[in-house]
Amino acid sequence: MAFAHRTDHLRPEGAYQVLARAQELEATGKDIIHLEIGEPDFRTPQNISQAGIDAIRAGQTRYNPPSGLPQLRQAIADFAGKQRGIQIEPKQVVVGPGAKPILFFPTLALVNPGDEVIFPDPGFPTYEAMIGIAGGIPRPVPLREENHFSFDLKAFDALVGKKTRLIILNSPSNPTGGAIPIDDLRHIAKAAIANDCWVLSDEIYSHLLYDGQSAPSIAALPGMRERTIILDGFSKTYAMTGWRLGFGIMPEALADRVGLLLTHSVGCTAHFTQLAGIEALIGPQDDVSKMVEQYQRRRDLLVDGLNDLPGITCQKPQGAFYAFPNIRGTGRTSGDLATHLLEHGIAVLPGSAFGRNGEGYLRLVFANSLENLSRALERMRMALLS
Ligand code: PMP
Repeated sequence: MAFAHRTDHLRPEGAYQVLARAQELEATGKDIIHLEIGEPDFRTPQNISQAGIDAIRAGQTRYNPPSGLPQLRQAIADFAGKQRGIQIEPKQVVVGPGAKPILFFPTLALVNPGDEVIFPDPGFPTYEAMIGIAGGIPRPVPLREENHFSFDLKAFDALVGKKTRLIILNSPSNPTGGAIPIDDLRHIAKAAIANDCWVLSDEIYSHLLYDGQSAPSIAALPGMRERTIILDGFSKTYAMTGWRLGFGIMPEALADRVGLLLTHSVGCTAHFTQLAGIEALIGPQDDVSKMVEQYQRRRDLLVDGLNDLPGITCQKPQGAFYAFPNIRGTGRTSGDLATHLLEHGIAVLPGSAFGRNGEGYLRLVFANSLENLSRALERMRMALLS
């Protein structure tokens, strides 16, 4: 069958492929520990779910403004502005069904065919997918493990220039858990201003940070607000992946254009989901703190355990819920090792699922119980010895 060329580069997300293979094995009676899918294992906090249920009962199930309910845009402007120390107007806020539309529509609105787009490699696979759909030229920048998996700035300097239209950042990152140091953000901001390009700053994990660390936003640096799109959402912070609720913060003219793309694609985001989102932002934040505490304990157990395994070294991730161990010492490729581990009952992703420079690493999700993580480490030890 013939398809339009703009979709030829699209591939499934690695996580779903491994999940499917793991489920096939489970159907044959094999026990698998799932460390492949990047989502919280916690339930959505009760007060948030209740707000959604109450909204449905009250009949709030109709069309509503494409860019989001005014009261949610106001709550996001207040909450996100306070978090980042910047002034945000509700008209700069765009709400969408998940954060993915905030990757997709600003890229479509900004990138012309032939424009270059810089993005992290290894990085979230949707970046490259949407660059291709917009007709942009992907310019992956390798990351440096020894510097919190931040950009290799020499490689970045060699790629950035007058053809660069957009630079995508992700801090804390999927798949590495690294947070970009402030000095690197300053370096990138200077290049963005000098070359008059936009920055899409994916900050969806910015509430999941450990040891009291912070991940500053590039939007807060001088001269950056007018060229930055902040992406954030509810999926990870509030364990709301299936509700589909995310948002972007961008200059008003771009927000209007993205609003038109939403109008003619998804129409709007579910009304009751947005009311649950308001409760998430203005209600108590204790559940988020409790989840972060749990993630930190799980991170410590997993990373310490990984560093004890032969041929494996693992940096401590500063945020998100991913460990990204270096497995070069095992003598296997990441694809090979991931397959081998699956045979031993542990589903993980090869680093190569996140770009060419992810080779030599695995991604393990630690949004799982301490018990399962301990069992996974035992199984890994057995697998590495066999
Ligand atoms: N950005 C990153 C880095 C992510 O990991 C994800 C989710 N896996 C998203 C964006 C998309 O989030 P959502 O599910 O809210 O669309």
